[in-house]
Amino acid sequence: VKRVYAFGKDAEGNNVTEGNKDMKYILGGKGANLAEMAVIGLPVPPGFTITCQTCMEYANADNTWPEGALDEIEQYRLDLERRIGKKIGDAEDPLLVSVRSGAPMSMPGMMDTVLNLGLNDQSINGLIKHTDNPRFSWDSYRRFIQMFSNVVMGLDGDLFENAINAKKIVRGVKSDADLTAEDMQELVEEFKAIFSENVSAEEYPSLVVDGKVGFPQNPDTQLRLAIEAVFGSWNNPRATLYRKQNKIADDLGTAVNVQCMVFGNKGETSATGVAFTRNPANGEKEFYGDYLVNAQGEDVVAGIRNTSPIAELKHVDGLQKAGAELEEVFVTLENHYRDMCDIEFTIEQGKLWMLQTRVGKRTAAAALHIAIEMVKEGLITKEEAVCRVDPEQLDQLLHPQFDKNAEYDVLARGLNASPGAAVGEAVFSAADAVAAEAEGRKCVLVRWETNPDDLAGMIAAEGILTSHGGKTSHAAVIARGMGAPCVCGVEALRIDAEKKEAVVSGTDTVIHEGDMISIDGTTGIVVLGAVELVMPELSGDLDVILEWADEFRRLGVRANADNPADAELSRSFGAEGIGLDRTEHMFLGDRKRIIQTFILNEDPAVREKAVNELFEAQTGDFYGMFKAMDGLPVIVRLLDPPLHEFLESPRALDVEIAKLEATGGDVKTIAEKRKLMEQIDAMSEANPMLGLRGCRLGIVYPILPVMQVRAIATAAANLKKEGLDPKPEVMIPLVSTVKELEKLRKVAVDTINEVAAEAGVELDIPVGTMIELPRAAVTADEIATQADFFSFGTNDLTQTTFGFSRDDVEAEFVPQYLAEKLLPYNPFATIDPGVAKLVKMGVELGHEGNPDLVCGVCGEHGGDPDSVKMFHKIGLDYVSCSPYRVPLARLAAAQAAL
Ligand code: ADP
Ligand code: MG
Ligand code: MG
Repeated sequence: VKRVYAFGKDAEGNNVTEGNKDMKYILGGKGANLAEMAVIGLPVPPGFTITCQTCMEYANADNTWPEGALDEIEQYRLDLERRIGKKIGDAEDPLLVSVRSGAPMSMPGMMDTVLNLGLNDQSINGLIKHTDNPRFSWDSYRRFIQMFSNVVMGLDGDLFENAINAKKIVRGVKSDADLTAEDMQELVEEFKAIFSENVSAEEYPSLVVDGKVGFPQNPDTQLRLAIEAVFGSWNNPRATLYRKQNKIADDLGTAVNVQCMVFGNKGETSATGVAFTRNPANGEKEFYGDYLVNAQGEDVVAGIRNTSPIAELKHVDGLQKAGAELEEVFVTLENHYRDMCDIEFTIEQGKLWMLQTRVGKRTAAAALHIAIEMVKEGLITKEEAVCRVDPEQLDQLLHPQFDKNAEYDVLARGLNASPGAAVGEAVFSAADAVAAEAEGRKCVLVRWETNPDDLAGMIAAEGILTSHGGKTSHAAVIARGMGAPCVCGVEALRIDAEKKEAVVSGTDTVIHEGDMISIDGTTGIVVLGAVELVMPELSGDLDVILEWADEFRRLGVRANADNPADAELSRSFGAEGIGLDRTEHMFLGDRKRIIQTFILNEDPAVREKAVNELFEAQTGDFYGMFKAMDGLPVIVRLLDPPLHEFLESPRALDVEIAKLEATGGDVKTIAEKRKLMEQIDAMSEANPMLGLRGCRLGIVYPILPVMQVRAIATAAANLKKEGLDPKPEVMIPLVSTVKELEKLRKVAVDTINEVAAEAGVELDIPVGTMIELPRAAVTADEIATQADFFSFGTNDLTQTTFGFSRDDVEAEFVPQYLAEKLLPYNPFATIDPGVAKLVKMGVELGHEGNPDLVCGVCGEHGGDPDSVKMFHKIGLDYVSCSPYRVPLARLAAAQAAL
C-alpha cells in the first residue's frame, strides 16, 4: 500500500503532485485540497501527506508503526529536500517544515499544527546566516520549542507564556514585538529548561542525554514525534467528543501533512491571513476575512493582535501584488470548486502562498443566499442549489431573535459572528455551562476566547460571548457550525474567569456569574438582563429554495398540530395538511375536570353529562382546526393515552392526605380524598403504555369514540354549511388486529352517516389507523381492508419493536449503548433500519389489502432529515412533523428525490 503522497513542485518547477481533491478519505481534507490547489497551478509550498489509513493502522496496533511506513516517510522527506534544495537540520541553510493534522472532515479538537520544525542548535545558525535576521530566527526557534512542547509533548502552554511575560516585564516592554534577538535567544534557553523539567524521562527515554531529558535536536526525531502526536490526537477526548457531536465515524483516521515553511513574519512585506471567497455570515458576494502584517500561523485566529480586513490588502505598500493575486485566486477557486471556499494564505516578502482551502462553512442564511446567487451566476443548477443547503441547518433561521418591540439598553457591542439570539445566565467556564445545562438552567458561555477544550460547554450553552477574536476565531467558526448564536470580539468586556465576572470598561457595570444576559448574534449586541425573544419571519431566500425543493420532491409534508395557531403556522411553513392532531391535548386545562368526572363516575347519567360537555368543547376545537386548514386534510387521532394521565397521582394524594391529617384537616375531606386515592390506585397499571390506551379505550368505553367522531363530523358539517371545504380524517390509534379496527371503523362510519343525515350535508370522512405495533405491521394486509389510510407512528413503533420504554431509555442505558456503539445512533431521533423494515412491510402488505391506501409517518422521525430520506425510499406518501420542522422536511424530501 502507498502511504505517502507528494504535492507541489520539484526543483525544476514541474508539478509532482500525486493526489487530488477527491481523495479526502485518504489524504484528509487539507491534504486533498493542498494537492488540488497544486494541480490547478496555485502557489502551494511543497510537501507530502501521510494517509489516514496509516493513522488507523498505527492507532489499532497500540501506537506502533506499520512495517515500512517510517521508511516510506523517510523517502518522501529526502525527496522533499531534493525538491527544495535544502536539508532539514542543515547548519548552513536549513529546510523548515510544518506538521499539520487533517482528517477527512474538518475537525477542531485534534492536534494543532507545529511550525518551524527542523530547528535545533545547529540549524538556527544556518537560519540566521541565510536570512541575515537574528531576531526572526531566534523568534522562530522559540516558537518551535513552545509549539512542540505544548502540542506534541502536551506541556501546559502557560509555562511558556509566563516566561515570555516575565521577560517583557524585565525588559520593560509591552508587546512581544519589542523583545530583541537577544531576548528571544534567552527565551530559547529558558524554554529548553522548561522542557527538560517537565517532560518525563520514563515516558521519553530516547530524549535523555547525560541523565537529563533534552529538547530533541535530531530533526528525524522531531518529525517522528510530531507525526505520532498527530496520529495520537485522533483518539483524544476532545476529538472523540467532536466526532460524536457531529456524527463522524471513529475509524476514518487523520492524515498528516508535512509541508515546507513559508514565513509571514519576515517584515512589513510579509503577512498571513484567513479568508472566505464570499461572506459566510450572510452570503454577500464580497471578499471576506482578516490578515495581519508580519505575523505567523495562528496569530490571526488567536485574536492576539487586531487584524485588518482582507479587502484592504491590495492597497497596502509592498503587498499590492500579492493582494491582487489573492483576489484572482478567490475567483479561480470558486470557479473550480463551484462553491464558496475558505482559505488560509501567507505572503512571504511579497510572494503569495496558499496554505489551505476547503468548501467553507456558512450560516443557513448564507447557504441559501450563496446557492441562489450561484444559480443566477450560472455556476450551479437549481438541483445542486437545493442539495447545497443542509436541512438541519435551516433550524438556525427558525431561531429566536430579539423582539423588535422589546426595550433594552445595549451594554456592549461585538461582532455578529453567528446569527440568532440567546438569553441565559452568564457562566465563565465550559464546566459551569455543562453544570447549568444539567440542572436545566439556560446559560450563555462568556469567554476571553474559546478553544477546543470548551466544546462541551459551547454545546451546553444557549449562546457564546467572547471578548477576543474576529469572525474567523474558534468561537465564531464552531458556533456557526452548531447554529448557536455567537457574539465575539466584545472588546469592552474585561473578563476575569477566576472570579467569574466581567467588567464592562467605561462603565461600572459588572456581569457576575448567574446574571441574566442576552446576546444577539445577528447584530452583535449584548444586553444585561433577559430580552424578549421572538421567532423570525422567513426570508425570501428560504422561500425560493423551498419552492425549488417543492418542484423536486415526491414526498408530501404535513404537520403535527393540535390547535389552530400551530395549524396556521405550519400552513405558512408550507405544510400540506395536518398528519396528526392529538385530541388528548384538548383535554387539558379546565377540560381536565370533565374527563376526570367521566373516568371516576360509574353512574351512566353522570358520564353522559360529562361526555356531552366534552362533545361541545371538541366540536369547537375541531371547527377551529378544520377552518385553519380549509381545503387541506386534517387527521384527527381519537383519544390515545392511558387514562391515568388525566388523573392525579395517587402518591401526590397520599402526601396531601398525610398533611391534612397532621394539621387536623376536615375529616370529610380526608375521607373523600382517601376514597379517590383508592379508586385511582385500583386503576393503575404496571405498564400503562402497554395497557388500556389507544383503540382499547374505544372498545372499553364505546361512548368516547362516538362522542369524538360526532364532534369531528359536526364541526365539518357546520363548516360545509358556511361554504368552506373541511377535510377531516378519523384515525384510530394502537390497533394490533383487524378485528379491533373493524369494530371501531363501523362505529365511526355509522356516526358520520348519522351526522350527515341530521345535518343534511354530504360528509366524506376517511377512516384509517395508526401502525405502531409490530403485529399491525406484519398483518397490514388484513388491517388495510378496514383502513383508508395508514399513519406509521414511529415513536411507539420504535418503542414496541425494541421493547424500549421511550420515556426512560434516554436517561437509562441508551447513552451507554451509544458510547459502546451497541447502537449507532438514538433510534428515537433517527429511524432505525429494523423499524424501517417494519414500515416497509406495512406499506407493501397494506397495498395488497387496499390498493388505494394512503401511507404516511407521524412520529418525530418525520422531521429528521436522515429519516425523511429513508421514508422517501420506502415509498411513503408523506411525512408529518412539528410545525418548525416543516421547511426542513420539505428540503430533505427534495434532496431524497434528487
Ligand atoms: P488548522 O487545521 O488548525 O487550521 P493548519 O494546519 O491549517 O491548522 O495550521 C494553522 C496555521 O499554521 C495555518 O493557517 C498557517 O497560518 C500556519 N501554517 C501551517 N503550515 C504552514 C507552512 N508550511 N508555512 C507557513 N505557515 C504555516
Ligand atoms: Mg488550529
Ligand atoms: Mg488551517
